[in-house]
Amino acid sequence: MNRVKEKLNSLTNKGVQLIAVSKGRTEEEIRTLYDQGIRDFGENRVQEFLAKVPLLPEDIRWHFVGHLQRNKVKSIVQLPQLALIQSVDSLRLAEKIHQEAQKAHRQMPVLLQVNIAREPQKYGFSPESLLEAFSELQTMSGLRIKGLMMMAPFTEEPEEVRRYFRATRELAQSLRAEKQIALEELSMGMSQDYQVAMEEGSTMIRLGRILFQKEGEDV
Ligand SMILES: *Cc1c(COP(=O)(O)O)cnc(C)c1O
Repeated sequence: MNRVKEKLNSLTNKGVQLIAVSKGRTEEEIRTLYDQGIRDFGENRVQEFLAKVPLLPEDIRWHFVGHLQRNKVKSIVQLPQLALIQSVDSLRLAEKIHQEAQKAHRQMPVLLQVNIAREPQKYGFSPESLLEAFSELQTMSGLRIKGLMMMAPFTEEPEEVRRYFRATRELAQSLRAEKQIALEELSMGMSQDYQVAMEEGSTMIRLGRILFQKEGEDV
């Protein structure tokens, strides 16, 4: 059995969903993973995403994982293949998605992106601003809020970022308790840190390099 299949099976057994982040990858590279059973792919640029979707099998569930400009929301929300917007990082963006989803007669599944480590260069709600905005977000009927997404700071040592995964899980727990919402998904973990993220309760990991690298290439 090859590496990707092995990884997929072990994750499925643990109840964790694997998203292959295919930004910068060719149609052919994506098809190779598709043929091995992967159906969830993530993109972070609207133009690239819109170009790829029609070239690839229709049963792919596409995830948008990058910063989204409000003037581009309409073009992606219209696509039925878009399964989840993982990167809702502000109230204004949420409002726009809500409006466009209503026009498209759909309820758009979304994750709210949290800048849990408060890095100035990263997008996302701070924990306080999320708590503050949450009641308003819950009134937006064009959205189906499924959970939280975060990106840990870059590190060579995944143990150093365990506390950020834990803090995200705890934030989701307090929101569930306070706001009466299921919030079942925690999208946490990338190639460098997904093992620690899974130990801290991740339900979705977003892997790029480690899935697409050629055999023998360094991650
Ligand atoms: C690129 C990207 C990933 C995957 O990163 P790798 O380090 O290649 O695994 C995950 N999440 C987001 C939001 C990304 O932009």
